[in-house]
Amino acid sequence: MTSIATLGSHCALQVLKGAKDEGFKTILVCETKREKLYRRFSFIDELILVGSFKEILDQKYTKQLEEQNAIIIPHGTLIAQMSSEEIESIKTPIFGNKWILRWESDRNMKERFMTESKLSVPKSLSSPKEISGLVIAKRHGAAGGRGYFLTTSEKDYKRKRDKLVHKGIIKGDSDLYLQEYAYGVSAYLQYFYSTLKEEIEFFGVDRRYESDIDGLGRIPAPQQIDIDIIPSFNVIGNSPLVLRESLLDEVYSMAERFVEASKRLVAPGMTGPFCLEGVYDDTGKFTTFEFSARIVAGTNLYVNGSPYSTFMYDEPMSMGRRIAREIKNAGKENQLTKILT
Ligand code: AMP
Repeated sequence: MTSIATLGSHCALQVLKGAKDEGFKTILVCETKREKLYRRFSFIDELILVGSFKEILDQKYTKQLEEQNAIIIPHGTLIAQMSSEEIESIKTPIFGNKWILRWESDRNMKERFMTESKLSVPKSLSSPKEISGLVIAKRHGAAGGRGYFLTTSEKDYKRKRDKLVHKGIIKGDSDLYLQEYAYGVSAYLQYFYSTLKEEIEFFGVDRRYESDIDGLGRIPAPQQIDIDIIPSFNVIGNSPLVLRESLLDEVYSMAERFVEASKRLVAPGMTGPFCLEGVYDDTGKFTTFEFSARIVAGTNLYVNGSPYSTFMYDEPMSMGRRIAREIKNAGKENQLTKILT
């Protein structure tokens, strides 16, 4: 019997609930500090307790997962806590294309991927000297928005950079990637690409609440000026959004271009969930500043299905459950090698 395993964080509850609903045994790789939390949920069949997630690279755990016929569902925590080399060296089968995760972690590779997908991408800057207008300084890797800042000049950039270095959040310039700030309404577009059906399914949209940038609007301008803080973009939670229906055609076209590019750039291409992240401007044009090549936590909103999954499924279909369904179908059709790496 196949089991579905994931790391205890990010969207683990959604993924394992979906796996259970599809009839799989569920395994959570859980840090001991979170054991009490995850024991509350009866759909988790087994906990593998570790001190840190990197321990799943140890032979002992690899064997344990192998005995259970486990498939790992990757999510943001895997990327945040392990290097691309470590992820690629995982012996347990991973759902989707583990090689694509490197393209997500490296900002320069990511930029190339988005450009190859013919997405509209904000210009990146190769040096702080080029700063004119509003620019966002972002950390490499999946930093979750912590230590990001906005700036409008080289002088201001240096001041903020030095402050973050002083706090020990970054080491220096090489930790930062500079990108023009894209104005508009942010939207995180969630998709599933079925390799079995060769079809894109649009699953939903969310917005992120990021601290402390999203709290700043509650502070009047004069007081904002008085307090000298560098607002960060650390995700605290997500809220739902539905799009004007006239925007949907382009939502699919962008995903088609992304999937096509993935096939050219990193075989076997995109498999399973992904997300295009950006903003809509006042003409309805979408600028993509980021993508995730795996399930995003914003899908946690839709455990009972979303306004869009309802058009495709006559049952509650979360992203976690959709992943499990794909694995189930691939198993039935003897096609598991197509969707695992
Ligand atoms: P990221 O790590 O690229 O997902 O960025 C974290 C957050 O920073 C995003 O959720 C946005 O709120 C913000 N952000 C990143 N890049 C840009 C950009 N080019 N323009 C506007 N906001 C951005």
